[in-house]
Amino acid sequence: MKLKVDEVLCSGHARCWTISRKFFTLDGDGYSAMRGQGLLDVPSELEEAARKAEAKCPEKAIQIVE
Ligand code: SF4
Repeated sequence: MKLKVDEVLCSGHARCWTISRKFFTLDGDGYSAMRGQGLLDVPSELEEAARKAEAKCPEKAIQIVE
């Protein structure tokens, strides 16, 4: 599984970070540090958290690519 975070849509709600601090990281302004980084590999043990974050992101900024 891979995912990307849209750099325009991400508005810094940090819900992804609260779901998995192991995977989702924030920049100094509270936005996803992964935005605009292209497709990123999701470790298999964090796939469930990634799906949950995709569902909970209020801006629909997280897109999972299977
Ligand atoms: S990806 Fe979504 S939940 Fe995560 S910081 Fe951006 S807007 Fe918030």
